[in-house]
Amino acid sequence: MSKPAQRRPDLNTVYTINDDGSRNFLQVADVRGRWQRIKKTGYWLLNLVFVALPLIQVGGHPAVHIDIPRRTAHLFGGTFTNQDFHLVFFLLIGMGLGLFVLTSLAGRVWCGFLCPQTVFMEGVFRPIERFIEGDRFQRAKRKKQGGAGNTGRKLAKHTVFLLLAWAISIWFMAYFIPVRELLGLLPHFPGHTTALLWSLFWTGMLYFDYSWFREQTCLIICPYGRLQATLVDYDTVIIGYDKKRGEPRGKGVESGGDCIDCRRCVDVCPTGIDIRNGLQMECIGCTNCVDACDEIMDKIKKPRGLVRFDSSRGFETGVSHFFRGRFWIYAVAFAALATLFVVRVGSRDSFHVTVMRPRGIPFTMEEGRIRNLYTFHLQNKTDDEKVYLIAPAAEVFADVEGVEYIIPQPRVALAPLSDQQVTLFASMPREGYVSGRDFIFTVTDSATSVVKNVKVRFRGP
Ligand code: SF4
Ligand code: SF4
Repeated sequence: MSKPAQRRPDLNTVYTINDDGSRNFLQVADVRGRWQRIKKTGYWLLNLVFVALPLIQVGGHPAVHIDIPRRTAHLFGGTFTNQDFHLVFFLLIGMGLGLFVLTSLAGRVWCGFLCPQTVFMEGVFRPIERFIEGDRFQRAKRKKQGGAGNTGRKLAKHTVFLLLAWAISIWFMAYFIPVRELLGLLPHFPGHTTALLWSLFWTGMLYFDYSWFREQTCLIICPYGRLQATLVDYDTVIIGYDKKRGEPRGKGVESGGDCIDCRRCVDVCPTGIDIRNGLQMECIGCTNCVDACDEIMDKIKKPRGLVRFDSSRGFETGVSHFFRGRFWIYAVAFAALATLFVVRVGSRDSFHVTVMRPRGIPFTMEEGRIRNLYTFHLQNKTDDEKVYLIAPAAEVFADVEGVEYIIPQPRVALAPLSDQQVTLFASMPREGYVSGRDFIFTVTDSATSVVKNVKVRFRGP
């Protein structure tokens, strides 16, 4: 009986999923080359940044620290409270637009070089797998042979993966709990349900992802791959195969193209596609096929670049237009939003005052006088202790006789990043009342003399 034909990646099916729905688990081949060197350096740097950010102190706080119980975030020396939450909108939209600019210009460089999924998979877990289980051929051989040696290696690999997943999940928590506190908490994790559950949840997710799910995250879960089709165009620089030069492909065909159909570019692909089929949603722009093909071209003494970075126009005509309309639209929108974000961040208040009134009782009448009650909610948004002075603005209502203010606590001392409510009253004679007028109170930061005018409507019958 003849052997069934080996399945090859095509444009109609996902290669990593078999016809019966089972997983076609890839054994990705090793590759060397200039892009691998660049990527590896980048992965090391990014991992270093991940580890360093909660450790580096900027302005007395970790460089990145999100304090959920206190609804505060410390980012590179800046302190943001819940009152600054609207900035998250600018940040998220800005990041999205930044990704649009990058993708329209250079395809999925984010996925191949910067995405945490790739950085941990290719920069940490895959090298460990290769170290313990060997390269693609050794792995396949050991799998075929089976035995205690193979089981031992698998056990060792999964133990290291689990420990790493746990270490990453713990360090991820260091972005929310200061490192010293977190380390002190570690021995008590079993008794600290929230911390324990979070660490177990993330350990499980990371272990599942990097030990088994792998490229399926990019193919099935991540929405960015699907967006790619709408963001790239004829002039976007992508990783592609030079059909004009490569075809007709084939081994030892003198009159043929440069592609010798060695399938190295397929064997090294972490998502299991054949780049010679054209741009596909599964391509994460990892450059493995570029280096693999360059290696082959070196061996057969042909120029490098059969698989390379170029635009679709470049592959077809040899001419590229990088800076075109689509790029400028995204870039201008991104620049406008980034500017707005920087301006908003720079003009944040150091304290915040909100005025509240008792519900359903806009005013009370007492011996011919109208009385309004206000509650001021003062929030110190700085890392320093502050004293705030509350006073009425003298010139308002100067034309009305008998206006009185009762401010039981004109001096409010607030600890760093704390808040407090204070009550105050304003009253005036019934006969002096004119509807639709506002009182103005001033709240002054005694240290900086920054004054906030707080306008409150005086209500009467
Ligand atoms: S690595 Fe290069 S030569 Fe080999 S199959 Fe791929 S494109 Fe062709
Ligand atoms: S086709 Fe090439 S660049 Fe795209 S994912 Fe596969 S190896 Fe990476």
